[in-house]
Amino acid sequence: MKKIAVLGIARSGLSAALKARELGYQVFISEYKKLEDCDVTLQELAGLDYEFGGHSDKLYDFPQIIVSPGIPLTTPIIKKLQANGNELISEIEFGFRIKHPATKIIAVTGSNGKSTTVSLIYHILNELHIKVALAGNIGIAFTSLPIEKYAYDYVVLELSSFQLDLVYDFRPDIAVLLNITPDHLNRYESFEHYSLAKFNIFKEQTETDTAIIFDKDRQINSYIHLIPSKIRRFSLKERSDVKLDNTNLSTSRLLIDISKTSLKGEHNILNIMATMLVLESLPMTLDSELTAKAFTSFKGLAHRLEFVADINGVTFVNDSKATNTDSVKYALSAFKQRVRIIMGGSDKGEDFGILLEHLNIYAKKLYLIGETKAKMMKQFEEFTPKETFDNLEEAVKKAFTESHPNDIIILSPACASYDAYKNYEHRGDSFRMIVENLKNNEQ
Ligand code: ADP
Repeated sequence: MKKIAVLGIARSGLSAALKARELGYQVFISEYKKLEDCDVTLQELAGLDYEFGGHSDKLYDFPQIIVSPGIPLTTPIIKKLQANGNELISEIEFGFRIKHPATKIIAVTGSNGKSTTVSLIYHILNELHIKVALAGNIGIAFTSLPIEKYAYDYVVLELSSFQLDLVYDFRPDIAVLLNITPDHLNRYESFEHYSLAKFNIFKEQTETDTAIIFDKDRQINSYIHLIPSKIRRFSLKERSDVKLDNTNLSTSRLLIDISKTSLKGEHNILNIMATMLVLESLPMTLDSELTAKAFTSFKGLAHRLEFVADINGVTFVNDSKATNTDSVKYALSAFKQRVRIIMGGSDKGEDFGILLEHLNIYAKKLYLIGETKAKMMKQFEEFTPKETFDNLEEAVKKAFTESHPNDIIILSPACASYDAYKNYEHRGDSFRMIVENLKNNEQ
Protein backbone atom coordinates (compact mmCIF):
# COMPACT_ATOMS: atom_id res chain seq x y z
CA MET A 1 0.00 0.00 0.00
CA LYS A 2 1.29 3.47 -0.90
CA LYS A 3 1.96 5.71 2.10
CA ILE A 4 1.71 9.47 2.38
CA ALA A 5 1.79 11.90 5.32
CA VAL A 6 0.35 15.40 5.58
CA LEU A 7 2.24 17.96 7.63
CA GLY A 8 -0.02 20.75 8.90
CA ILE A 9 -3.76 20.44 8.66
CA ALA A 10 -5.34 23.54 7.17
CA ARG A 11 -7.95 23.29 4.38
CA SER A 12 -5.64 22.11 1.60
CA GLY A 13 -3.94 19.57 3.90
CA LEU A 14 -7.26 18.02 4.87
CA SER A 15 -8.38 17.86 1.22
CA ALA A 16 -5.12 16.19 0.22
CA ALA A 17 -5.42 13.67 3.07
CA LEU A 18 -9.00 12.78 2.13
CA LYS A 19 -8.12 12.51 -1.55
CA ALA A 20 -5.10 10.29 -0.83
CA ARG A 21 -7.23 8.00 1.30
CA GLU A 22 -9.87 7.86 -1.46
CA LEU A 23 -7.11 6.81 -3.87
CA GLY A 24 -6.05 3.97 -1.56
CA TYR A 25 -3.05 5.49 0.22
CA GLN A 26 -2.25 4.86 3.86
CA VAL A 27 -2.48 8.43 5.22
CA PHE A 28 -1.03 9.99 8.37
CA ILE A 29 -1.63 13.60 9.47
CA SER A 30 0.81 15.35 11.79
CA GLU A 31 0.01 18.80 13.24
CA TYR A 32 1.97 20.66 15.92
CA LYS A 33 -1.12 22.57 17.17
CA LYS A 34 -3.66 20.94 19.43
CA LEU A 35 -6.84 19.70 17.74
CA GLU A 36 -8.98 22.31 19.52
CA ASP A 37 -6.82 25.11 18.04
CA CYS A 38 -7.29 23.84 14.47
CA ASP A 39 -10.04 24.54 12.03
CA VAL A 40 -11.03 20.86 11.63
CA THR A 41 -13.55 18.63 13.38
CA LEU A 42 -13.21 15.02 14.53
CA GLN A 43 -15.97 14.18 12.09
CA GLU A 44 -13.87 15.42 9.16
CA LEU A 45 -10.97 13.30 10.39
CA ALA A 46 -13.01 10.11 10.74
CA GLY A 47 -11.12 7.11 9.39
CA LEU A 48 -7.80 8.97 9.12
CA ASP A 49 -4.71 8.33 11.22
CA TYR A 50 -3.43 11.50 12.92
CA GLU A 51 -1.47 13.16 15.71
CA PHE A 52 -1.99 16.67 17.11
CA GLY A 53 0.09 18.75 19.53
CA GLY A 54 3.49 17.80 18.07
CA HIS A 55 5.34 15.64 15.55
CA SER A 56 6.43 12.13 16.50
CA ASP A 57 9.05 9.94 14.79
CA LYS A 58 6.26 8.13 12.95
CA LEU A 59 6.45 10.86 10.29
CA TYR A 60 9.87 9.62 9.17
CA ASP A 61 8.29 6.33 8.01
CA PHE A 62 6.41 8.13 5.25
CA PRO A 63 8.55 8.49 2.12
CA GLN A 64 6.29 11.23 0.75
CA ILE A 65 5.00 14.15 2.83
CA ILE A 66 2.58 16.87 1.73
CA VAL A 67 3.57 20.11 3.46
CA SER A 68 0.92 22.71 4.20
CA PRO A 69 1.70 26.09 2.53
CA GLY A 70 1.50 27.78 5.95
CA ILE A 71 4.67 26.07 7.21
CA PRO A 72 7.91 28.00 6.50
CA LEU A 73 10.64 25.83 4.99
CA THR A 74 12.99 27.03 7.71
CA THR A 75 10.94 25.22 10.42
CA PRO A 76 13.11 22.60 12.26
CA ILE A 77 10.78 19.68 11.39
CA ILE A 78 11.15 20.48 7.67
CA LYS A 79 14.94 20.62 7.94
CA LYS A 80 14.96 17.27 9.81
CA LEU A 81 12.71 15.56 7.25
CA GLN A 82 14.82 16.91 4.39
CA ALA A 83 17.98 15.62 6.06
CA ASN A 84 16.29 12.24 6.52
CA GLY A 85 15.53 12.05 2.79
CA ASN A 86 11.70 12.19 2.94
CA GLU A 87 10.24 13.71 -0.21
CA LEU A 88 8.43 16.96 0.67
CA ILE A 89 5.81 18.15 -1.81
CA SER A 90 3.09 20.80 -1.87
CA GLU A 91 -0.59 20.00 -2.17
CA ILE A 92 -0.45 21.45 -5.70
CA GLU A 93 2.30 18.99 -6.65
CA PHE A 94 0.31 16.08 -5.25
CA GLY A 95 -2.78 17.26 -7.14
CA PHE A 96 -0.80 17.53 -10.36
CA ARG A 97 0.58 14.01 -9.99
CA ILE A 98 -2.88 12.49 -9.55
CA LYS A 99 -4.87 14.62 -12.00
CA HIS A 100 -6.40 13.16 -15.15
CA PRO A 101 -3.89 13.61 -18.00
CA ALA A 102 -6.49 15.21 -20.29
CA THR A 103 -7.26 18.04 -17.86
CA LYS A 104 -5.11 21.07 -18.69
CA ILE A 105 -3.76 23.56 -16.17
CA ILE A 106 -3.79 27.35 -16.39
CA ALA A 107 -1.72 28.60 -13.44
CA VAL A 108 -1.40 32.20 -12.29
CA THR A 109 1.08 33.61 -9.80
CA GLY A 110 2.45 37.06 -8.91
CA SER A 111 2.65 39.35 -5.91
CA ASN A 112 -0.60 41.11 -6.81
CA GLY A 113 -3.58 40.57 -9.07
CA LYS A 114 -3.78 36.77 -8.82
CA SER A 115 -7.35 36.47 -7.50
CA THR A 116 -8.70 39.07 -9.89
CA THR A 117 -7.00 37.45 -12.89
CA VAL A 118 -7.94 33.83 -12.12
CA SER A 119 -11.54 34.87 -11.42
CA LEU A 120 -11.68 36.74 -14.72
CA ILE A 121 -10.20 33.79 -16.66
CA TYR A 122 -12.59 31.40 -14.93
CA HIS A 123 -15.60 33.65 -15.59
CA ILE A 124 -14.79 33.93 -19.30
CA LEU A 125 -14.14 30.22 -19.83
CA ASN A 126 -17.43 29.49 -18.08
CA GLU A 127 -19.26 31.95 -20.28
CA LEU A 128 -17.69 30.24 -23.30
CA HIS A 129 -19.19 26.95 -22.05
CA ILE A 130 -15.81 25.34 -21.47
CA LYS A 131 -15.66 22.74 -18.66
CA VAL A 132 -13.54 24.62 -16.14
CA ALA A 133 -12.84 24.73 -12.39
CA LEU A 134 -11.16 27.37 -10.23
CA ALA A 135 -8.90 26.38 -7.32
CA GLY A 136 -5.73 27.06 -5.32
CA ASN A 137 -4.95 30.09 -3.21
CA ILE A 138 -8.39 31.51 -4.02
CA GLY A 139 -9.81 29.24 -1.29
CA ILE A 140 -10.80 25.98 -2.99
CA ALA A 141 -8.13 23.32 -2.54
CA PHE A 142 -6.95 21.79 -5.84
CA THR A 143 -7.31 18.27 -4.37
CA SER A 144 -10.88 18.95 -3.22
CA LEU A 145 -11.89 18.76 -6.92
CA PRO A 146 -12.51 15.42 -8.68
CA ILE A 147 -9.25 15.95 -10.60
CA GLU A 148 -8.38 12.28 -10.86
CA LYS A 149 -11.34 11.92 -13.25
CA TYR A 150 -11.85 13.71 -16.54
CA ALA A 151 -14.29 16.24 -15.04
CA TYR A 152 -12.79 19.43 -16.53
CA ASP A 153 -11.02 20.51 -19.68
CA TYR A 154 -9.20 23.20 -17.67
CA VAL A 155 -8.42 23.91 -14.05
CA VAL A 156 -7.46 27.52 -13.36
CA LEU A 157 -5.09 27.62 -10.38
CA GLU A 158 -4.20 30.65 -8.28
CA LEU A 159 -0.76 29.96 -6.81
CA SER A 160 1.06 31.77 -4.01
CA SER A 161 4.83 31.52 -3.78
CA PHE A 162 4.36 29.17 -0.80
CA GLN A 163 2.42 26.74 -2.97
CA LEU A 164 5.23 26.87 -5.53
CA ASP A 165 7.96 26.22 -2.98
CA LEU A 166 7.70 22.43 -3.14
CA VAL A 167 6.83 21.57 -6.75
CA TYR A 168 8.84 19.13 -8.89
CA ASP A 169 6.75 17.68 -11.77
CA PHE A 170 4.14 20.48 -11.81
CA ARG A 171 3.83 21.64 -15.41
CA PRO A 172 1.03 24.05 -16.32
CA ASP A 173 0.05 24.24 -20.00
CA ILE A 174 -0.28 27.99 -19.57
CA ALA A 175 1.56 29.83 -16.76
CA VAL A 176 1.10 33.51 -15.94
CA LEU A 177 3.49 35.61 -13.85
CA LEU A 178 1.81 38.95 -13.18
CA ASN A 179 4.53 40.79 -11.25
CA ILE A 180 7.12 40.34 -8.54
CA THR A 181 7.34 42.98 -5.85
CA PRO A 182 8.60 42.69 -2.27
CA ASP A 183 6.10 40.68 -0.19
CA HIS A 184 6.31 37.95 2.45
CA LEU A 185 9.87 39.00 3.21
CA ASN A 186 9.31 37.74 6.73
CA ARG A 187 9.19 34.20 5.30
CA TYR A 188 11.88 34.15 2.65
CA GLU A 189 15.61 34.53 3.20
CA SER A 190 15.72 37.26 0.54
CA PHE A 191 13.79 38.90 -2.31
CA GLU A 192 15.78 36.62 -4.65
CA HIS A 193 14.50 33.47 -2.91
CA TYR A 194 10.93 34.78 -3.09
CA SER A 195 11.33 35.58 -6.82
CA LEU A 196 12.80 32.18 -7.61
CA ALA A 197 9.88 30.44 -5.86
CA LYS A 198 7.58 32.26 -8.29
CA PHE A 199 9.67 31.09 -11.25
CA ASN A 200 9.03 27.48 -10.23
CA ILE A 201 5.74 27.91 -12.12
CA PHE A 202 7.71 27.66 -15.41
CA LYS A 203 10.33 25.10 -14.37
CA GLU A 204 8.86 21.99 -16.01
CA GLN A 205 7.31 23.69 -19.04
CA THR A 206 8.53 22.86 -22.55
CA GLU A 207 8.33 24.84 -25.80
CA THR A 208 4.82 23.53 -26.44
CA ASP A 209 3.60 25.33 -23.27
CA THR A 210 3.07 29.06 -22.83
CA ALA A 211 4.53 31.54 -20.35
CA ILE A 212 2.73 34.88 -20.03
CA ILE A 213 4.74 37.59 -18.30
CA PHE A 214 4.54 41.29 -17.40
CA ASP A 215 7.32 42.72 -19.53
CA LYS A 216 7.93 45.88 -17.51
CA ASP A 217 8.78 44.01 -14.31
CA ARG A 218 12.54 44.28 -13.72
CA GLN A 219 12.62 41.26 -11.42
CA ILE A 220 10.83 39.08 -14.01
CA ASN A 221 13.16 40.21 -16.77
CA SER A 222 16.26 39.43 -14.76
CA TYR A 223 15.24 35.75 -14.54
CA ILE A 224 13.65 35.44 -17.98
CA HIS A 225 16.41 33.02 -19.13
CA LEU A 226 14.90 30.46 -16.74
CA ILE A 227 11.72 30.19 -18.83
CA PRO A 228 11.82 27.15 -21.14
CA SER A 229 8.45 27.73 -22.89
CA LYS A 230 6.96 30.12 -25.48
CA ILE A 231 6.89 33.63 -23.99
CA ARG A 232 4.02 36.07 -24.53
CA ARG A 233 4.40 39.54 -23.02
CA PHE A 234 2.08 42.23 -21.79
CA SER A 235 2.78 45.77 -20.63
CA LEU A 236 1.51 49.30 -21.17
CA LYS A 237 4.70 50.04 -23.19
CA GLU A 238 5.66 49.01 -26.74
CA ARG A 239 6.89 45.49 -26.01
CA SER A 240 3.49 43.91 -25.56
CA ASP A 241 1.56 41.21 -27.40
CA VAL A 242 -1.59 43.12 -26.47
CA LYS A 243 -1.91 46.61 -27.92
CA LEU A 244 -3.58 49.45 -26.06
CA ASP A 245 -5.21 52.08 -28.24
CA ASN A 246 -7.34 54.59 -26.36
CA THR A 247 -9.80 52.32 -24.50
CA ASN A 248 -9.31 49.32 -26.80
CA LEU A 249 -7.12 46.33 -26.08
CA SER A 250 -6.36 44.13 -29.05
CA THR A 251 -4.57 40.93 -29.93
CA SER A 252 -4.64 39.11 -33.24
CA ARG A 253 -7.96 37.46 -32.33
CA LEU A 254 -9.60 39.62 -29.66
CA LEU A 255 -10.75 43.20 -29.20
CA ILE A 256 -11.87 44.37 -25.76
CA ASP A 257 -13.14 47.84 -24.91
CA ILE A 258 -11.97 48.32 -21.32
CA SER A 259 -14.34 51.23 -20.71
CA LYS A 260 -17.16 48.67 -20.86
CA THR A 261 -15.67 46.49 -18.08
CA SER A 262 -16.14 47.08 -14.37
CA LEU A 263 -12.44 46.66 -13.67
CA LYS A 264 -10.87 50.03 -12.93
CA GLY A 265 -7.28 51.22 -12.70
CA GLU A 266 -4.06 50.62 -14.60
CA HIS A 267 -3.35 47.40 -12.72
CA ASN A 268 -6.61 45.94 -14.01
CA ILE A 269 -5.67 46.78 -17.61
CA LEU A 270 -2.65 44.54 -17.00
CA ASN A 271 -4.85 41.79 -15.53
CA ILE A 272 -7.15 41.99 -18.57
CA MET A 273 -4.14 41.86 -20.92
CA ALA A 274 -2.84 38.73 -19.15
CA THR A 275 -6.28 37.15 -19.45
CA MET A 276 -6.47 37.97 -23.17
CA LEU A 277 -3.13 36.24 -23.73
CA VAL A 278 -4.35 33.17 -21.83
CA LEU A 279 -7.40 33.04 -24.12
CA GLU A 280 -5.21 33.51 -27.21
CA SER A 281 -3.06 30.57 -26.11
CA LEU A 282 -5.94 28.11 -25.95
CA PRO A 283 -5.87 25.54 -28.76
CA MET A 284 -9.38 26.39 -29.99
CA THR A 285 -11.27 29.05 -31.91
CA LEU A 286 -13.00 31.53 -29.66
CA ASP A 287 -16.26 33.27 -30.36
CA SER A 288 -14.87 36.82 -30.23
CA GLU A 289 -18.25 38.47 -29.61
CA LEU A 290 -19.15 36.12 -26.74
CA THR A 291 -15.66 36.61 -25.29
CA ALA A 292 -15.97 40.40 -25.38
CA LYS A 293 -19.39 40.12 -23.71
CA ALA A 294 -17.90 37.91 -20.98
CA PHE A 295 -15.28 40.57 -20.17
CA THR A 296 -18.09 43.09 -19.74
CA SER A 297 -20.21 40.87 -17.49
CA PHE A 298 -17.37 40.24 -14.98
CA LYS A 299 -18.20 42.19 -11.86
CA GLY A 300 -14.82 42.28 -10.09
CA LEU A 301 -14.06 40.97 -6.60
CA ALA A 302 -14.96 42.31 -3.18
CA HIS A 303 -12.27 44.09 -1.09
CA ARG A 304 -10.31 45.17 -4.18
CA LEU A 305 -10.99 48.82 -4.94
CA GLU A 306 -14.61 47.99 -4.18
CA PHE A 307 -17.12 50.84 -4.06
CA VAL A 308 -18.89 50.69 -0.67
CA ALA A 309 -21.09 53.76 -0.35
CA ASP A 310 -21.64 57.40 -1.12
CA ILE A 311 -22.58 59.51 1.91
CA ASN A 312 -23.36 63.16 1.20
CA GLY A 313 -21.12 63.04 -1.88
CA VAL A 314 -18.22 61.36 -0.05
CA THR A 315 -17.18 58.06 -1.67
CA PHE A 316 -15.95 55.13 0.45
CA VAL A 317 -13.74 52.51 -1.21
CA ASN A 318 -12.76 49.17 0.32
CA ASP A 319 -9.32 47.98 -0.80
CA SER A 320 -8.67 45.79 2.25
CA LYS A 321 -6.96 43.24 -0.01
CA ALA A 322 -4.13 45.74 -0.57
CA THR A 323 -1.80 43.99 1.88
CA ASN A 324 1.48 45.26 0.43
CA THR A 325 2.89 48.57 -0.84
CA ASP A 326 2.74 47.76 -4.54
CA SER A 327 -1.02 47.25 -4.53
CA VAL A 328 -1.40 50.56 -2.67
CA LYS A 329 0.59 52.31 -5.42
CA TYR A 330 -1.84 51.00 -8.02
CA ALA A 331 -4.85 51.82 -5.86
CA LEU A 332 -3.69 55.42 -5.41
CA SER A 333 -3.05 55.94 -9.09
CA ALA A 334 -6.47 54.55 -10.01
CA PHE A 335 -8.13 57.83 -8.92
CA LYS A 336 -8.09 61.13 -10.74
CA GLN A 337 -7.89 63.12 -7.49
CA ARG A 338 -6.17 63.11 -4.11
CA VAL A 339 -7.71 60.66 -1.63
CA ARG A 340 -7.95 60.28 2.15
CA ILE A 341 -6.24 56.97 2.76
CA ILE A 342 -6.49 54.69 5.81
CA MET A 343 -3.37 52.55 6.16
CA GLY A 344 -1.73 50.21 8.67
CA GLY A 345 -2.12 46.70 10.05
CA SER A 346 0.24 43.87 10.89
CA ASP A 347 3.86 44.10 9.75
CA LYS A 348 5.27 41.89 6.97
CA GLY A 349 8.67 43.57 7.07
CA GLU A 350 8.13 45.97 4.17
CA ASP A 351 9.71 49.39 3.75
CA PHE A 352 6.71 51.73 3.56
CA GLY A 353 8.96 54.66 2.61
CA ILE A 354 8.80 53.61 -1.04
CA LEU A 355 5.20 54.84 -1.06
CA LEU A 356 6.18 58.45 -0.30
CA GLU A 357 6.41 59.54 -3.92
CA HIS A 358 2.91 58.21 -4.66
CA LEU A 359 1.44 59.63 -1.48
CA ASN A 360 2.84 63.05 -2.36
CA ILE A 361 1.03 62.95 -5.69
CA TYR A 362 -2.19 61.15 -4.81
CA ALA A 363 -2.97 61.45 -1.08
CA LYS A 364 -4.81 64.20 0.74
CA LYS A 365 -4.30 62.89 4.27
CA LEU A 366 -3.07 59.66 5.93
CA TYR A 367 -5.11 58.01 8.66
CA LEU A 368 -2.82 55.45 10.31
CA ILE A 369 -3.98 52.47 12.38
CA GLY A 370 -2.77 49.08 13.63
CA GLU A 371 0.51 47.57 14.67
CA THR A 372 2.45 49.45 11.95
CA LYS A 373 1.17 52.95 12.70
CA ALA A 374 4.31 54.10 14.58
CA LYS A 375 6.60 52.68 11.85
CA MET A 376 4.49 54.44 9.23
CA MET A 377 4.55 57.75 11.14
CA LYS A 378 8.36 57.54 11.00
CA GLN A 379 8.71 56.33 7.41
CA PHE A 380 6.17 58.91 6.16
CA GLU A 381 7.82 61.72 8.14
CA GLU A 382 8.04 63.89 5.01
CA PHE A 383 4.31 63.61 4.30
CA THR A 384 1.70 65.82 5.97
CA PRO A 385 -1.04 65.80 7.14
CA LYS A 386 -1.17 62.44 8.92
CA GLU A 387 -2.68 61.21 12.16
CA THR A 388 -2.81 57.95 14.16
CA PHE A 389 -5.92 56.25 15.55
CA ASP A 390 -6.66 53.43 17.99
CA ASN A 391 -8.84 51.56 15.53
CA LEU A 392 -10.44 51.54 12.10
CA GLU A 393 -13.73 53.02 13.29
CA GLU A 394 -12.08 56.13 14.74
CA ALA A 395 -10.07 56.60 11.55
CA VAL A 396 -13.16 56.28 9.30
CA LYS A 397 -15.19 58.69 11.44
CA LYS A 398 -12.44 61.32 11.52
CA ALA A 399 -11.87 61.02 7.77
CA PHE A 400 -15.58 61.49 7.19
CA THR A 401 -15.91 64.56 9.46
CA GLU A 402 -12.99 66.16 7.61
CA SER A 403 -14.40 65.39 4.15
CA HIS A 404 -16.22 67.61 1.67
CA PRO A 405 -18.54 66.52 -1.15
CA ASN A 406 -16.57 64.69 -3.90
CA ASP A 407 -13.90 63.49 -1.45
CA ILE A 408 -12.79 59.85 -1.56
CA ILE A 409 -11.98 57.80 1.56
CA ILE A 410 -10.15 54.57 0.85
CA LEU A 411 -9.04 51.73 3.10
CA SER A 412 -5.85 50.48 1.41
CA PRO A 413 -3.71 49.25 4.32
CA ALA A 414 -0.38 48.09 2.71
CA CYS A 415 -0.34 45.53 5.54
CA ALA A 416 -1.83 42.19 6.53
CA SER A 417 -4.79 42.31 8.90
CA TYR A 418 -3.86 39.80 11.61
CA ASP A 419 -3.15 42.43 14.29
CA ALA A 420 -6.88 43.08 14.69
CA TYR A 421 -8.81 40.83 12.29
CA LYS A 422 -9.13 37.22 11.21
CA ASN A 423 -8.18 38.09 7.64
CA TYR A 424 -8.49 40.83 5.03
CA GLU A 425 -12.12 39.92 4.30
CA HIS A 426 -12.99 40.40 7.98
CA ARG A 427 -11.23 43.81 7.93
CA GLY A 428 -13.05 44.82 4.72
CA ASP A 429 -16.41 43.67 6.08
CA SER A 430 -15.80 45.62 9.26
CA PHE A 431 -14.99 48.74 7.16
CA ARG A 432 -18.24 48.24 5.27
CA MET A 433 -20.20 47.97 8.53
CA ILE A 434 -18.65 51.14 9.96
CA VAL A 435 -19.53 52.98 6.75
CA GLU A 436 -23.08 51.59 6.74
CA ASN A 437 -23.58 52.76 10.34
CA LEU A 438 -22.30 56.21 9.38
CA LYS A 439 -24.77 56.24 6.50
CA ASN A 440 -27.70 55.27 8.75
CA ASN A 441 -26.77 58.01 11.22
CA GLU A 442 -26.72 60.57 8.42
CA GLN A 443 -30.18 59.69 7.15
P1 ADP B 1 -3.75 38.68 -5.10
O1 ADP B 1 -4.70 37.54 -5.20
O2 ADP B 1 -2.48 38.45 -5.86
O3 ADP B 1 -3.49 39.17 -3.73
P2 ADP B 1 -5.90 40.51 -5.94
O4 ADP B 1 -6.47 40.33 -7.28
O5 ADP B 1 -6.66 40.00 -4.79
O6 ADP B 1 -4.42 39.89 -5.93
O7 ADP B 1 -5.56 42.05 -5.71
C1 ADP B 1 -4.85 42.44 -4.53
C2 ADP B 1 -4.55 43.91 -4.53
O8 ADP B 1 -3.59 44.21 -5.53
C3 ADP B 1 -5.77 44.76 -4.82
O9 ADP B 1 -5.84 45.71 -3.79
C4 ADP B 1 -5.53 45.42 -6.16
O10 ADP B 1 -5.84 46.78 -6.10
C5 ADP B 1 -4.03 45.23 -6.43
N1 ADP B 1 -3.76 44.70 -7.78
C6 ADP B 1 -4.57 43.93 -8.54
N2 ADP B 1 -3.98 43.60 -9.71
C7 ADP B 1 -2.74 44.14 -9.69
C8 ADP B 1 -1.63 44.15 -10.61
N3 ADP B 1 -1.68 43.53 -11.80
N4 ADP B 1 -0.52 44.83 -10.23
C9 ADP B 1 -0.44 45.45 -9.04
N5 ADP B 1 -1.45 45.51 -8.14
C10 ADP B 1 -2.60 44.86 -8.44
